[in-house]
Parts: sequence; C-alpha cells; structure tokens
Amino acid sequence: MTDQVESAHPFYAYCQNALQEIEQQGRYRRFTSLSRRSASYPVYDKGNLEQQEKPVVVWSSNDYLGMGVEPEVMNAAINAVKEYGAGAGGTRNIAGTHPLHVALEAELADLHGKEAGLLFVSGYVSNQASLQTILASMSGGWITFSDQQNHASMIAGIKGAKQSECIIFKHNDLKDLEEKLAAAPASAPKLIAFESVYSMDGDIADIGAICALARKYNALTYLDEVHAVGLYGEQGGGVSQRDNVADQVDIIEGTLAKGFGVHGGYVTAKKEIIEYLRLAASGFIFTTALPPSIVAPALASVRLARQQNWRREKLFERVHTFQKKLKEAGIPYLQTESHIVPVMIGDAERCKEISKRLLEEFSLYATPINYPTVPKGTERLRLTPNPFHTDAMMDDMVQALKSLL
Ligand SMILES: *Cc1c(COP(=O)(O)O)cnc(C)c1O
Repeated sequence: MTDQVESAHPFYAYCQNALQEIEQQGRYRRFTSLSRRSASYPVYDKGNLEQQEKPVVVWSSNDYLGMGVEPEVMNAAINAVKEYGAGAGGTRNIAGTHPLHVALEAELADLHGKEAGLLFVSGYVSNQASLQTILASMSGGWITFSDQQNHASMIAGIKGAKQSECIIFKHNDLKDLEEKLAAAPASAPKLIAFESVYSMDGDIADIGAICALARKYNALTYLDEVHAVGLYGEQGGGVSQRDNVADQVDIIEGTLAKGFGVHGGYVTAKKEIIEYLRLAASGFIFTTALPPSIVAPALASVRLARQQNWRREKLFERVHTFQKKLKEAGIPYLQTESHIVPVMIGDAERCKEISKRLLEEFSLYATPINYPTVPKGTERLRLTPNPFHTDAMMDDMVQALKSLL
C-alpha cells in the first residue's frame, strides 16, 4: 500500500480519524486470542498458534451448558463432514436443503410447541431477516413496540423495515408498554418485540403478562429466547416453556450457538408465518445454507439437551454456589434470577484494567462490558459460570477479584 492509494478517497482519512477517536474514548476493542480445549472446558489456551502461553480459565463463554464439547455432539460434526463434506454447496433453494435441515427444523418446532421452524445462518440473521420481512408486509403501516434493551439484531430488523414505525418502551415496564399500545391507532398492525433473559443484567421478562397485553391490543408477539434456550424449561425450551406460555407467543426465536453450543439461528411459529418467511425473507433465501457439519451436531445437541436435565440442574447449582462465594467475599454483583452473574465495577477504564489484570496475573478471563453495551456508571465483568466450573476455579476467581477490587 502506498500513501497515494490510501489518500485517494476521503474514506481512508475518515477511517483513520474514527479509529483515533474510538481509541481516545477508550472504546477500542482488541481481541484476546483464546483456543478452547474440548477435553478440559472451560480451560483455554491463550496466545496464537505459533506461541502458546499459560492455560486460562474462561468465565465469559456463552456455551452455557458445555454442549459444544460434548463428545456425541462433536462426533456428529466429524461424521457429517466425512459423509457429506465440509460445506453446504448452495442456498436452501439451490441444492442446499439436506434432510438434516428438515429434521432440525422439526425438532426446534417441537421444542417450542410450534407447528414449524426455519433455520438461519445465525441468530443475528434470524432476528434481522424475520423482523424486517414481517414489518415490510401488509403494505406497511406496522408499529413495533420494542423493549429498550432489545439486542442489536432485532433493532437492525426493525430499522430495516423503513415504512414501519418503532416505539421503544421502557425495559420490562408493562405499564409503559400498555400506555404506548393504548395510544397507538387501533387499526395499525402491531408487533411487540422482546427478549426473555436479557444478557447484560440477567433479568427476565414477564412473558405471560406481555402476551396478555398483546391480546388486549391485538399485537403480534416476537420473543428472542437466545439466552434461555437449552437452559430454562423442563426440556430447555426457554423461559416461555418454564412459564408455560409458549403457546401464547406468536414467534419464538433462538440460537443454536449459545446454550446449544454449536452455530445457527432459527424462528418457530405457525405454519403460515414460517412459510411466508421462507418464501419472502431475503436473509433466508440469498445465503448459503448452514452446512450439514453444523446442522448434525446442532441436532444432536438439541436432542441431548432436551433429555439431560442434569445439565440445567448442575448449571444453576454452580451459579448459586458462585453467587454465595461472591457474597461471602463481599464482592458486589447483581443478584439476578438468571444464570448471568454481573460483577459491578462502575468505571470503564477500571473495568478494562481489572479484566486485563485478571488475565495477565491470574490467568482468568472475564470480558469487560462497557458503554454503549451498558449505561455509563454500570460497567461490569459479565461472568457466566457453567456446569464445568469447579469449586477451586470459583475460589480462584473470588480471590483474584478480592485482591483487585
Ligand atoms: C447473541 C444474540 C443474538 C444473536 O445470536 P447469534 O447466533 O450469536 O447470531 C440474538 N439475540 C440476542 C439477545 C443475543 O444475545
């Protein structure tokens, strides 16, 4: 690259300035290179492929149940590669639909008690593509009532439907939601978009109450269960299953990449909605299908997770034990009813510094969560214990935090 090429278009200079600004604001994200060891999750190797450093205990993985290192799940991937090759070779419409896709969609629909399911290449795409497609339908005029803390992927879908209107309601605030529903024109098609477990504060929506409001004001309900699938409900069908309200939700969206430990996203709903999305959603139609080497382990994982209640029991036992240890040590954390344990720091620089020192001095990894992901003054380390964090690992983390806070 010569200077001449870099200066040819003003965008080069724009990028240089923007990067400097992000750095000055302390928002420059740098990757930490970590490789998971399947045989000893949650222990990872730190460093690059050429130079391995000390092993690190990771406290920030979203593979909440360890499904991604389950031998049966890994073997399903290995066997699928051997049998079917590495990639999918096409979109679902162009030589990309495998019997495994169909089986996984049926499994997910069954998990949520819905008629049908549709796979997407990620949870992000499932939200973005489904919401954008729904909100561009019926010649526009939709009004979306969107929880203030909804994930970026839902916001992308809502904003992407340019003819539709978006009204943001206060986080998990039923009174505010009802006021806003009541104030909207009765004739407009309405949709309420929300999550079950919110991943930063670990708080949980009252799904039944939101669905009751939806019925009262004739709104469609769209629920993101990304941080709950696999973990809540007697078969891991999410909070809607735990609360026995899945049948009241029109569209349930989830990921195969967090609690199920593999990769991919999906929606489940009544047949006509799923068929419409299959035929109309650009983000479904025009992208190569998930490869069988991903779908096979995902299917194995969902089936196993549905049966293996011990994983959910063990996860919550570990979470409660860890919370108890933090409490005894006087470390400030958000007491939530979910599996997410935010340790509050309250300052962006300090949060980054503590995370860095945990890694360098104690070989412990916990991601710092700063503005704009959370409000200023509520910066935190987001810890996610899993069934394989031992008491000794917990004690190490508690001791390290005690010495750093
Ligand atoms: C991670 C996440 C997604 C996206 O899921 P991926 O499968 O990682 O693309 C969607 N919604 C929420 C709330 C998330 O946290």
